[in-house]
Amino acid sequence: MLYRLPNWFLSLFLYVALLFSSCFNKSVDGKFTILTTTGMLGDAIKNIVKEDAEVVSLMGPGIDPHTYQTTHKDVQKLIHADMIFYNGLYLEGKMTDLLEKMAKTRKVYAASDALHKTQLIYEDIFPIGIDPHIWFDVRLWKQVVAFISQKLQEARPESAAYYEENTIAYLKTLALLHQEVTAQMQSIPAQQRVLITAHDAFGYFGKAYDTEVVGLQGISTVAECGLKDIHRIVELILKRNIKAVFFETSVSDKSMRAVLEGCAHYGHKVKIGGCLYSDALGAAGTPAESYCGMIKANTIAIVNALK
Ligand SMILES: [Zn+2]
Repeated sequence: MLYRLPNWFLSLFLYVALLFSSCFNKSVDGKFTILTTTGMLGDAIKNIVKEDAEVVSLMGPGIDPHTYQTTHKDVQKLIHADMIFYNGLYLEGKMTDLLEKMAKTRKVYAASDALHKTQLIYEDIFPIGIDPHIWFDVRLWKQVVAFISQKLQEARPESAAYYEENTIAYLKTLALLHQEVTAQMQSIPAQQRVLITAHDAFGYFGKAYDTEVVGLQGISTVAECGLKDIHRIVELILKRNIKAVFFETSVSDKSMRAVLEGCAHYGHKVKIGGCLYSDALGAAGTPAESYCGMIKANTIAIVNALK
């Protein structure tokens, strides 16, 4: 059974637990354990450490990190992890406070620290005025991977050479992925390259791959989408004669369905371009179970629907 606990309780619990135990950061079976919030970070680390460490991600397929509530089980995992990586930029919403507190005394790192402030997208609609969805620009994600690898190598000098070798190979894979996404997106005529999604997750994708992006749910997923927003999107679709809109795996499709109804009301047929992976990886065994698979699956869906 999962208990939803208030933040103050979690902070107190963690503080007491860490105070009274000197061996809490050792995993039960002795294997070095790295905990991440998102699956995207977990996948990056698995590509660096391979079988050399245990990698655990708290937020599985379909989970929305903006509204994620820390459970009692999560606290146990946080206490037992040797290292923790989180996205940062307030992607983890309510959990951020806890992670920032832990970072003062433990090996806890925000992946977004890999980026220079000039690389970030600043928009008031996000809780701290910065778009946290940095994984959608593959070039930025390469920086994140290199940053994580450096932290892992510092923590595990005995495995540093192995991690470095794996990192170099993975960065090459990501460079190819970036080229592939660029070429695919360029195959859509510029006029039709408009991505309408459930929430504002694709800002970095749009900037990196020269695509206009419109999110229905302005601010992350926390704010409810109003009638005004739905009208705004319907008008845009009619005006630009846009062929498709997209659902997201970790966001409710309620508001986007209202957009489809709005378009139908005006006799404009819009198709559903598919369900994009926005803030979580796909389920195990599906092509989107990895970061590269997620980016590819999204790109294919977008190209097929808009081209
Ligand atoms: Zn999001």
